[in-house]
Amino acid sequence: MRDIIIIGSGPAGFTAAIYAARAQLKPLLIASSVEIGGELMNTTEVENYPGFPEGIMGPDLMTKFQEQAERFGTEVVYDDVVELELDGPVKRVKLGNGDEHEAAAVIYATGSAYRKLGLPEEEVLSGHGLSWCATCDGFFFREKTIAVIGGGDSAMEEATFLTRFASKVYVIHRRDSLKASKIMQQRAFDNEKIEFIWNSEIAAIHGTEAVTGVTLRDTVTGDERGLDLDGLFVAIGNDPRTHLVHGKLDLTPEGTIAVEGRTSKTSLPGVFAAGDVIDPHYRQAITAAGSGAAAALDAEHYLAALGNENAAEAVLETEFAVIT
Ligand code: NAP
Repeated sequence: MRDIIIIGSGPAGFTAAIYAARAQLKPLLIASSVEIGGELMNTTEVENYPGFPEGIMGPDLMTKFQEQAERFGTEVVYDDVVELELDGPVKRVKLGNGDEHEAAAVIYATGSAYRKLGLPEEEVLSGHGLSWCATCDGFFFREKTIAVIGGGDSAMEEATFLTRFASKVYVIHRRDSLKASKIMQQRAFDNEKIEFIWNSEIAAIHGTEAVTGVTLRDTVTGDERGLDLDGLFVAIGNDPRTHLVHGKLDLTPEGTIAVEGRTSKTSLPGVFAAGDVIDPHYRQAITAAGSGAAAALDAEHYLAALGNENAAEAVLETEFAVIT
């Protein structure tokens, strides 16, 4: 049996791994079979992660996280968790390939998933002009007319990035003001390829084999009109990925995993949660990383109380560092 298993490979998961590995707890990190690195893998330039004054590309940042975690002895497994047994002193984590791993503690840091519009056309047209990832698919829209849906930082970032390829980018937002930060808003307003369509939602997506346009519905008057498009990017936020722990861990009304105060302690002893799965508000790479560090420290305390000598030593070191 291992000391600790970390599920998730975003900033929270890898930071937890760095801390746990430095505490000699030899963490096993389950990184998923396809989406290693979390949301930052779909991001372009990250300008607000401290330590990188010139900015850094999201995927490059995640490579650094992983290298740092592995340098101290984190073992990374590229597979999906299909089942969890979290009650009792031995936690069991079952993977898609049939392997089962056991640990005394688990840190759950699976992040969040793109929110969907909830339209029936979404499933059919996904990958055929309908996308949730500008950095993955933007290249296919050279000199095309496309639209981004949403009014937050993601929508501004995607729209701005897509102007590198597209000839015209509409931003379709359901209200008449944006949720995005001022700097991201201004960058989009200043971009002459971007045009905002306010107070509008998507009533339908047109196209059988590929997106050809949308029906826009005015959210104030209810009027509908058509808009021809070659592509549509959805950037309306994310929902915490908690499906594996439904019925096992307590959740908040917002759908995140409930934790004790400012800690990472979930409703089950020995199970800790970090990053977007516990945070409906900030959802930044840096806050997720901080949350991952907290989860590893909480797990160290838990393991130390169970008599784990490496964890006890790490706890002493941390407490000594606080006193001095
Ligand atoms: P978000 O801040 O939650 O914004 C989601 C946007 O989509 C809102 O404008 C919302 O409209 C709209 N929306 C939600 N559901 C919708 C629906 N069903 N139909 C139409 N519109 C819908 O999500 P986000 O933009 O993905 O950002 C998430 C977090 O990541 C934020 O904390 C953000 O700061 C951060 N982030 C940071 C950066 C950066 O700093 N470089 C980049 C990307 C994301 P309303 O405004 O009406 O609610």
